[in-house]
Amino acid sequence: MSDSYDVIVIGGGPAGYPAAVRAGQNGLKVACIDDWKNFDGTHAFGGTCLNAGCIPSKALLESSELVHRAHEEFATHGINVGKITVDLAQMQKRKAGIVKASTQGILALFKSAKVTPLAGHGRLLPGRKVEYTSFDGAVHLLEARHIVLASGSTPMALRSVPFDGKQVLDSWGALEMTAVPKRLGVIGAGVIGLELGSVWRRLGAEVVVLEALETFLPMVDQQVAKEAIKHYRKLGLDIRLGAKVAGASSAADGVTLAYVDAAGDHTVVVDRVVVAVGRRPHTVNLLGDGTGVTLDERGFIVVDEQCWTGVDGIHAVGDCVRGPMLAHKGKEEGVMVADLIAGRYGEVNYRTVPSVIYTAPEIAWVGQTEEQVKASGRAYKVGVFPFMASGRARAMEAPAGFAKLIAATDDDEVLGVHVIGPMAGELIGEAVLAMEYSASAEDLQRTIHAHPTLSEALHEAALAADKRAIDFPNR
Ligand code: FAD
Ligand code: AMP
Repeated sequence: MSDSYDVIVIGGGPAGYPAAVRAGQNGLKVACIDDWKNFDGTHAFGGTCLNAGCIPSKALLESSELVHRAHEEFATHGINVGKITVDLAQMQKRKAGIVKASTQGILALFKSAKVTPLAGHGRLLPGRKVEYTSFDGAVHLLEARHIVLASGSTPMALRSVPFDGKQVLDSWGALEMTAVPKRLGVIGAGVIGLELGSVWRRLGAEVVVLEALETFLPMVDQQVAKEAIKHYRKLGLDIRLGAKVAGASSAADGVTLAYVDAAGDHTVVVDRVVVAVGRRPHTVNLLGDGTGVTLDERGFIVVDEQCWTGVDGIHAVGDCVRGPMLAHKGKEEGVMVADLIAGRYGEVNYRTVPSVIYTAPEIAWVGQTEEQVKASGRAYKVGVFPFMASGRARAMEAPAGFAKLIAATDDDEVLGVHVIGPMAGELIGEAVLAMEYSASAEDLQRTIHAHPTLSEALHEAALAADKRAIDFPNR
């Protein structure tokens, strides 16, 4: 193993590995150190996203959605399948195979970009040095002209409901359950809580979701949030808002969760609890003394717009720095930093980072919510197109939800796009591109969309903003 590199990346998740790959593509000599350990003690690159987040959750969401559709929709299509049974072991095996293919793919990417993979822990030392401790305990001192910190995040714990890995689980534990619990408690109605709650509800669990805030999905456009909660409740998620969990007591026959709401104190008894109250930056044993890298009051590594820490040669990207904790945000930061290091142009447009909630209906958005535009004082117009008016959505038996476009009244600039409905996460890509090019509503209106497609909903929403929709009565 060489001791000296152009770039060392600490962390091999979706922020770190793209930084390493792009640095390698830029002709630099690169190593990527990663200390992820799976439940079975094996190492895999890919971080939270590939091992315990985006990918396994989407695998289970897909499987469980198929179960739900088999129960609810197949008969409507005229498909009779008899008794539907779930083989959870097979479902989990499929998920594990997808995770493995994804994480092993990173090694192939490293090989093609000539990145040296180093399994083990990395610690930044002053003077652009890194102490690398491999899993066999051997300690190596490495140095690099540039070091990229990409140490990610870990689930936030609730002091009143500590994880025990058996009855009280974090999001990773919730993805690994080997039996469907009869009663599942989810603490936190954020993106992760709603996705995991949906999986286990569709597989047959009674799910109660306790959320401290009175407002459902406060970061989401509230017209969308109101539509969403109707569908989640119809699915059977028992969502209780304004319900702050204050304690838990575990016994062999279940966990009693104590929570407080406006009406007073309550308890609910469940078999398993998933604590999904957010994530916090992970910087444990990452920074040696005297590196000069600083953390803010919430523990994030302090960086500027270009992810520079203010210390010569040291950048930080992904969940360990400010901004939304999203894989694609980290990826673009990693790529930006690797290009800047190589003297190339690099930039992340934080105004056009899309967000997706992979429930059914799916939710996706980019730019400002109507509430944010209103608060900004800028005059605006709104166009909404419901999927029930889309021929493709009806053919898909997916008429729930709508596409909503918000544009400025003065110059017609698209300020935000919000979709709740089928394939929302795919549809939002068009809106991201439009906003990246500072499109106007008229630009979208004049763009030809194939018929019949779901993307016509965006086209019609843009037309509706000027009361010129063709396929739905304008209001
Ligand atoms: P991580 O993925 O956390 O990776 C950091 C890596 O660095 C880890 O492998 C860690 O072991 C390693 N590391 C840390 N410190 C050191 C050190 N000192 N030395 C060596 N290695 C170190 N985001 C989305 O965009 N879309 C989704 O659909 C989505 N779904 C999610 C579902 C769940 C259940 C969860 C939990 C998260 C989800 N996320 C999703 C969030 C996404 O997983 C994170 O935003 C993303 O993983 C952050 O990437 P990262 O590279 O910054 O950190
Ligand atoms: P997110 O940060 O999007 O993952 O969402 C986490 C959610 O958990 C937030 O909506 C919080 O309001 C919620 N939350 C945090 N602490 C508690 C608690 N003690 N009881 C219920 N909900 C909580």
